[in-house]
Amino acid sequence: MSLTLESSAIQEAVAALKFRTGAFIEGRFVPARSGKTFPTENPATGKVIAQVAACDAADVDAAVRSARKAFDGGAWSRMSPLNRKKVLLKFADLLEANAAELALLDCLEGGKPIGDCVNTDVPETVHCIRWHAETLDKLYDRIAPTGPENLAMIIREPVGVVGAVIPWNFPTQMAAWKLGPALGAGNSVVLKPAEQTSLSALRMGELAVEAGLPPGVLNVVPGLGEMAGQAIGRHMDVDMAAFTGSTEVGRCFLRYSAESNLKRVILECGGKSPQVVLADPPDLDIIAQNAVNAAFWNMGENCSCGSRVIVHESVKDALLEKIAALAKTWTVGDPLDPATRVGSMIEKPHMEKVLGYIAAGHSEGAKLVMGGRQVLAETGGYFVDVTIFDEVRNGMKIAREEIFGPVLSVIPVKSEEEAVKLANETSYGLAASLYTRDVNAAHRVARAIRAGTVSVNCFSEGDMTTPFGGYKESGFAGRDKSIFAHEQYTELKTVWMAIG
Ligand code: NDP
Repeated sequence: MSLTLESSAIQEAVAALKFRTGAFIEGRFVPARSGKTFPTENPATGKVIAQVAACDAADVDAAVRSARKAFDGGAWSRMSPLNRKKVLLKFADLLEANAAELALLDCLEGGKPIGDCVNTDVPETVHCIRWHAETLDKLYDRIAPTGPENLAMIIREPVGVVGAVIPWNFPTQMAAWKLGPALGAGNSVVLKPAEQTSLSALRMGELAVEAGLPPGVLNVVPGLGEMAGQAIGRHMDVDMAAFTGSTEVGRCFLRYSAESNLKRVILECGGKSPQVVLADPPDLDIIAQNAVNAAFWNMGENCSCGSRVIVHESVKDALLEKIAALAKTWTVGDPLDPATRVGSMIEKPHMEKVLGYIAAGHSEGAKLVMGGRQVLAETGGYFVDVTIFDEVRNGMKIAREEIFGPVLSVIPVKSEEEAVKLANETSYGLAASLYTRDVNAAHRVARAIRAGTVSVNCFSEGDMTTPFGGYKESGFAGRDKSIFAHEQYTELKTVWMAIG
């Protein structure tokens, strides 16, 4: 299915969509063992799209058994890296060939602007799988520097069965961030998508098998976090859990591991990312563009959302004026409309949570510059206007907690030291941006900010070559993307040989 970004073509493509709604186990779609389903909704209309298999512990157990059988069988885990690479490259090709369909599924279920899904989410998904595929036959193991009487090989082996539990904000991309390195390293995977966005993950499972992945190597179990997610976390035969989502549920995975088989856990959690603007900023127009993008891209439903602009008081008013002028051009609207920059919140309770934060901003004394309310209620969807607060203090709730909505807080400061202090005065440490003309200040502040990624004079999460993950409560024990992600899906083994 191809897709040109014109409304009539998009509507036709939506009408032609077929939804895969069963659990994908052992290479085929099956209903949940209980027969239960749950509705998946279009958050831009409030209407149900489809009923999806509600997997529980029994389905997870079947998926894990299938994954283990595939792993032990070796058809994938012991395949040569070159041949694994070929299959994953074919998988990437099929994702690309079906990009329009995947983009539409994420747009419909996630309320994400179709332009973003077509131009960013799906291309990044394809690139991620390709990047990890391409690394596979270029990695070498090591020989330890022992004496001549021994040979000690330090080799990397796949961990085994990986459970991946992912969120709804970038459905295909988050799946790819886990699948690329996990499958690339030779593991079997049981993937649980978020209950709001199951459809693209189920299609990805099918495409992976079409590409030549042996059945059972990738299983997809849609379902609720409390049921399917917890069952993965507690399963005695899952060797590793890779999670992206809230810090609160991240903590659950550490507990699940401690109370079950000490499975390896890697967490990518929330953020409250600062955008620090010092007194000598480069071009304010460019900073404003970056700041607006950082705050409102993906409706602010982004763990690295730049939700706090910490700006020197001498440039604050000039910058804020430019930010507000640009933010007004970010149209809130139907995610299927190519002109839309800001789609809907993921679901009604989440919209209410975001509106609750806006109310807290008012009551704690922040000054509303624009937005601040639900819009387009007549659609039945869950839209929140692009919102900016000025005169925010870092102790306010809107500056401390992850809102995950289109709400930007502007915090004036008097010095570089104060800016760094406030940037770090958060329980999170995922990402940060920094703007200055002074190369020394750039190095100094980039090192002083405790965050996994610091972008200087731009807003960036890096690319596939750089690790992504957080300090403090933004993450645990690992990173997504890059060769570092690949390594964490492997075990290190020493083979120590006596040489006669
Ligand atoms: P969650 O952390 O609840 O969801 C992430 C994934 O974990 C989903 O697949 C979810 O399933 C699953 N899950 C939920 N509860 C459990 C559990 N008890 N055991 C195992 N798995 C579970 O995020 P929410 O969707 O509730 O969003 C809440 C907040 O989390 C957001 O407002 C935002 O602040 C943050 N968040 C951060 C993300 C990031 O990229 N770091 C992404 C998404 C959210 P189910 O879909 O059924 O809930």
